Formats: sequence, C-alpha cells, structure tokens
Amino acid sequence: MIIVMERLVPEEQIKMVEKKLEEKGFNVHLSKGVERTIIGAIGERTQAIMDAIETMAGVEKVVPIVQPFKMASKEFKTNPTTVRVGDQVIGDGSIQVIAGPCAVEGWDKFLEVAQMVKSAGATMLRGGAFKPRTSPYSFQGLEEEGLKILAEARRITGLPIVSEIMDPRIIDIVASYVDVMQVGARNMQNFFLLRELGKCNKPILLKRGPSATIEEWIMAAEYIISSGNEQVIMCERGIRTFENYTRNTLDLSAVPIIKQLTHLPIIVDPSHGTGKWKLVAPMAMAAVGAGCDGLIVEVHQNPSEAMSDGPQSLTPENFRMMVDKVQKLHAAMKQE
Ligand code: PEP
Ligand code: MN
Repeated sequence: MIIVMERLVPEEQIKMVEKKLEEKGFNVHLSKGVERTIIGAIGERTQAIMDAIETMAGVEKVVPIVQPFKMASKEFKTNPTTVRVGDQVIGDGSIQVIAGPCAVEGWDKFLEVAQMVKSAGATMLRGGAFKPRTSPYSFQGLEEEGLKILAEARRITGLPIVSEIMDPRIIDIVASYVDVMQVGARNMQNFFLLRELGKCNKPILLKRGPSATIEEWIMAAEYIISSGNEQVIMCERGIRTFENYTRNTLDLSAVPIIKQLTHLPIIVDPSHGTGKWKLVAPMAMAAVGAGCDGLIVEVHQNPSEAMSDGPQSLTPENFRMMVDKVQKLHAAMKQE
C-alpha cells in the first residue's frame, strides 16, 4: 500500500508512520518530493492496518496497490526512474542508441565496429561474450576473452558497454568488465539470477521473454528491484506469435503500457524484434514514435559473415542512416 502524507508535513510525523509500519512487519520505502512525501509499504495489508495508519497525524490517505507488482509500479514511485550509465542517462527524455554486433567475434573486428558505430551516433556499445544459442553446437561466445575486448572498446571509444549475463555464478566477473548487465529473453524468468542481480550495484537491461505477458515481465523487474537494485531498464524485443514472416512480433504497445504502469525506462530492440535488417530502421522509428527511451541495434561490418544474427544486422552505413532518421524524429517530437 501507499501512504500519501499531507503537504509539507513535519519530519516527526513521517517518522511515526514509518515506525508504525515497521512494527506491523512492513518494508518501508520513502519517496520524498518537493512538497509531499509518499511512503510505500510492502507487507501483508489488512483493512484494520489501513484504518489505523489513516488516522495517524500527517496522513492524507492510504491507497492499496492492487497490481501484483509493487516496487516497479508507478503508484509506488511517481517520478520516472533515470538510469545513469557512464556519461549517459536512460529515461531522461533523451534517446540512447546502443549498437554493436550480436556477438564479440574477435579483437580487431570488435574494436573496428565499435569505432564505426560511435562515429555513426551510437551512445553505448553492445556485444555478447556469453551467447544463449538454441543449438549447443552453435558459436557460444568468446566468454571472458570477449569481456576483455569489450572493456578495451570502452577504453578506446569512451562508450559504456552492455553485455549479457546468463549465469549467477559469474556475476562478479561480468560486472567487473561491463557497465550494464543484460538479462536475455530466455532468462527473463530465471528468478535466482534476477534475485542475485538485485544484490549488485549495476544497471540491468531486462529483456522481455519471447512468451512473457507484460505483467510477467514487470514481475521479473519486481524481483530485481525488491532484492535491492532499482536500476532496471526494460527492453521490448518481440514476442512469439503465429506470424512467421518476422522472427518475432515486436509489441510496441508495450512501450506506452510500461510507461503507464511503471516508473521504469524502456528501450526497444528492433533487431531481434523483426529478425530482418530491412525492418530495423522502420521499427526503430516506430519505437521512438511510441515514446521509448532508447534502442538496442545489431550492427556488423559484414552481416553475411556474422557468426550470429547476420540477417538482422545493419551495416555501419545503414546504421548511420537509421540514427539520422531517429534523431530527426526525436527532435521533431520534442518540439511538439
Ligand atoms: C541479444 O541481444 O544478442 C540476444 C540474445 O537477445 P534476446 O535475449 O532478446 O534474444
Ligand atoms: Mn543477437
């Protein structure tokens, strides 16, 4: 439930309410605005407790949170969450463009494409070092060597690094190299992994599972936040439907829905969302039009030679054209 305090209420009254909630076994989270304090309380709510709190000095009203997600909900925290990554901020009204190949394939190739996407307007780099492949016989990634290459690319370009974490046993290793840890679609409901990521102090990019409802996806974010890490960035990457012209069906309605239901930023992956490079720029534009906070896009110097996801990878030149269009659209939307 949420306790909305009266405007400019004295600090002691806030403390009294906090104390009472803690006595009743609630976990308490304060959200202090300029004029108003809102207290989020997670625990077993009964009508009697709600009535008792509502009669306390300084309390304006007690509002039950009816949604199954609490700490991710907009009711719990009205101000949008912004996630700082290096010099960039996700969720502050800017469009962050994360770009790079599906997988880190080697030193020279990655360092080259990293500089190419930077000069085309990327604000962060992506590249998988640990790859979740459908077949155990497909390329699985360069593992820790890949992380070292990513860190070197950050040193050269100054751009922050996003890379996937699949295994809770190596969180510390991955976290020591990357700036944002990506939970891939296939691990969205790996609750043990989510809980462990909740204990670390790094932003988490949470991809939507291919068969996950929006509510299940927000509940996955709730696992991370309730374990202590509020720096969650949602990522729509397409869901499985009957349509098989595209690899997945990119559900762009998720963008305004996530904004309506939660305080979390959301980015869109039109590469995995479509599986076809020709659809990436149009869907990137649509995603920006829908109000997302950024894009994550696969780019490869030579898509036909890529070790994974070549058909959905843009060339650096096509990526540059996409970024131009996206920036113009975003600028026009800001003027509105
Ligand atoms: C990826 O970003 O390379 C990836 C594997 O994405 P997803 O988990 O969305 O399939
Ligand atoms: Mn990929």
